[in-house]
Amino acid sequence: MMPRLIDCRTILLLSLLVAGCASSPTSRRQVVLYSDDVMASQGISTYEQMQAELPVETDSRRLAYVRCVTGYIVDALSSQERGDNAWEVTLFKDDQANAFALPGGKMGVFTGLLDVATNQHQLAAVMSHEVGHVLARHSNERASQAALRDIGLAAAQQAGVSDQTLQLIGFGANLGFFLPFNRVQESEADQIGIMLMARAGFDPQESINLWHNMAANGGSRPPEFLSTHPSPDTRIADLNRQLSRAEAQWLAARNQGRVPDCVAPD
Ligand SMILES: [Zn+2]
Repeated sequence: MMPRLIDCRTILLLSLLVAGCASSPTSRRQVVLYSDDVMASQGISTYEQMQAELPVETDSRRLAYVRCVTGYIVDALSSQERGDNAWEVTLFKDDQANAFALPGGKMGVFTGLLDVATNQHQLAAVMSHEVGHVLARHSNERASQAALRDIGLAAAQQAGVSDQTLQLIGFGANLGFFLPFNRVQESEADQIGIMLMARAGFDPQESINLWHNMAANGGSRPPEFLSTHPSPDTRIADLNRQLSRAEAQWLAARNQGRVPDCVAPD
């Protein structure tokens, strides 16, 4: 029997997979097909659009507070983690308790978050989690998975799979930055985040207090960092498991003089 010829789409798919295999900061294997430069420029243009279209908080004390906390986090990044990015934060006037960080180093905090993250350590917990998504290239990974799904879909079309089957597998690729991350990515961002906040000199125990606050203030539209699968209970249990390691890191940071003093406005 003659072996079936492999069509060129399959070869393309395989070569993309080989080209895009990488390791996340927690040594998880992941497929990232886009360059950091491409992701950064998309993140920056999304950010500029948000700055142009959304109301921005101008209260200088609140702005200084948010800049202070994120400044300590960015300072704690290694030069490799920081990359060539001009890290910055914008405080958006919006009641939702939410925040984000985009490839390219652009961060956003919504004013509603300041009612839930009630001190500098809790705000640092949220922002370190968001920066964790960036460091682990989660947007790239999600976009890559969507692209591969499209290629797989095209290959299936060529192979004559029925339309009904195609509908079942073709969820439609959406590369938006604000889609939910998956469970693995959320847990990984938590894991990176608690160590990063400790490295920056913030009290990692407060990440657990924050989740308790968030669970109490959940509401009908949970924010990004409470959005998807890991339940607050699971997250709290996972963070507790990492707490002693994070506290050792925190102590080391304090001994190096990293003692953040960002004053939350009233
Ligand atoms: Zn998240």
